[in-house]
Parts: sequence; structure tokens; C-alpha cells
Amino acid sequence: MKLLKDRILKDGNALSENVLKVDSFLNHQIDAKLMKAVGEEFIERFNDTEITKVLTLESSGIAPSVMVGLQLDIPVVFGRKRQSLTLKDDLYTSQVFSFTKQETNTIAVARKFLSKEDKVLIIDDFLANGEAANALIDVVNQSGAEIVGVGIVIEKAFQSGGKILRDKGYRVESLARIESMYNGNIKFVSDDE
Ligand code: 5GP
Repeated sequence: MKLLKDRILKDGNALSENVLKVDSFLNHQIDAKLMKAVGEEFIERFNDTEITKVLTLESSGIAPSVMVGLQLDIPVVFGRKRQSLTLKDDLYTSQVFSFTKQETNTIAVARKFLSKEDKVLIIDDFLANGEAANALIDVVNQSGAEIVGVGIVIEKAFQSGGKILRDKGYRVESLARIESMYNGNIKFVSDDE
């Protein structure tokens, strides 16, 4: 997605060879117009599928997911990282090892928001080693719903998550795929448009 890649080159900050900071349009301050375009691009890429629900993770997956939910007129559910007051029995839970925070969190989704009739599009801001996506997949599998695919705003293609998910047979659509970030130089995968 050219608009997104241009913005990454303009405002993205490679903090190291592995971590990209995009807090001016995605992870802290949000560019709503860009998120709208991101939502449209996800819908375009999955337009051959039926989607009844979007599932993401708080907090940075919410903005792009809401844009998809708004345009398709379907609900958006986000996995919660904090303990809620809800009884454990009412929740699907899974473990996520956070790449950026280097800690394990439990994510939870209320059972009432996912059912086996749902066809779920999973969306997240970044794909690194696939921990977050795998936890969301685990939650959907517990509910018996179908996984339509995984939509990622920024995939760091030099990390293992994309390969792991694609090898498992999941359809992964990443709007920007980064090949490397040596010396602050962000390079995209060349087969990307
Ligand atoms: P994974 O679970 O695939 O290893 O990592 C994806 C999650 O970690 C995303 O939900 C995202 O919040 C965070 N993450 C991973 N890599 C980066 C990065 O380079 N920059 C930012 N801002 N977040 C990242």
C-alpha cells in the first residue's frame, strides 16, 4: 500500500534493526484519514470472503479495525490485556509474549462476543514473531468460529511471524512488508507493490 509505505518512510523511526516506532500515525497519535485508507485496503484485499466480525488486540489494533468494522457494518472486538471484573468462565483466554515489552500477558475475550457462526478477520498493527496473532487465532479456535484471514498493517518480514502463520495455512495480508531496517534505513520487500 503506497500511501502507508510513504508514510512509514516519512515518519517511521527505526529504533534498532528490529523495532520500528510509528507513534505519530498509528501507535500513539492516530492519523484517522490514513486509518480509513488502511481499512479500505483490508476490505479490498479480503473482498472475496464473508466477514462477520473483526478481532484485534488493544490498543493499537483498534483504530484500523474500527475502520473495517465501520465500512462493513460489522462489530469489532478487541482482546483485553488487563484483568477485567468478568468471571473467568465467561472468557476465552490465551497467552501472548510481547515482543516490544518482553513480558507475557494474558489476553481475554468475552465468550458472548464470539460464536461458532462467526467468520472472523483478525487485524493487528504489527506482525513480528506472530505471538499476538497466534493468541488471537487461539481465541477464535476456542470459540469454534472460522478464521477468514489475518490483516496486518506493518509486517516485519525479517521476523518469523509471517512465515509461521502462512505455513499453518492462514491467509495473511500485510499492507507494508519491511525487509530490513539496517542503520535506520527502512527497506520494503521488493515484490510488494
Ligand atoms: P508479535 O506478537 O508478532 O511478535 O509482535 C506483534 C505485536 O508486538 C504487535 O501487536 C505490536 O504491538 C508489537 N510490535 C512488534 N514489533 C513492533 C515494532 O517494531 N514496533 C511497534 N511499535 N510495535 C511492535
